[in-house]
Amino acid sequence: MDSCIFCKIVRGEIPSYKVYEDRDTLAFLDINPVNLGHVLVIPKKHFENFQDIPSNVLCEIINIIKKLTLSIIQSVQAKDYNIMLSNGKIAGQEVPHAHFHIIPRFEKDAFEVHFNSKKISSDEMKKIAESIRKELSKLPNKV
Ligand code: AMP
Ligand code: ZN
Repeated sequence: MDSCIFCKIVRGEIPSYKVYEDRDTLAFLDINPVNLGHVLVIPKKHFENFQDIPSNVLCEIINIIKKLTLSIIQSVQAKDYNIMLSNGKIAGQEVPHAHFHIIPRFEKDAFEVHFNSKKISSDEMKKIAESIRKELSKLPNKV
């Protein structure tokens, strides 16, 4: 996609600190890192939405994330990390090219992962679990 900032990085039109590249996948340092070693992993092809990434590419990306994570925590001497993807504006996605964040974590760093939990009745919990199981059963093995 012409105007997409991550597509521009893929095409080498704007600079990046690359850490990994193969035919389908690119990983580079986040320009505004939460911590040193904060890496973004993207499919080279432009997919805005997580669901649009073909399963075979997604599987490769996940395997690369697994390896990269080890390299990152080794490099910055961290033990813990977050792997995140924000899908859509409401979920906080700012760049409309699907990307995973790998964020190494340190004691008392500035990053907060905070779930404000909701009270939901047991009836509603049962209903939603049933609905999700039903929707899942309608889908083919690979989507
Ligand atoms: P998100 O909020 O999940 O869409 O995250 C977008 C991320 O992309 C942010 O953490 C930005 O700091 C990062 N970002 C934006 N532009 C660039 C760029 N040119 N190079 C590297 N990272 C970038
Ligand atoms: Zn793009």
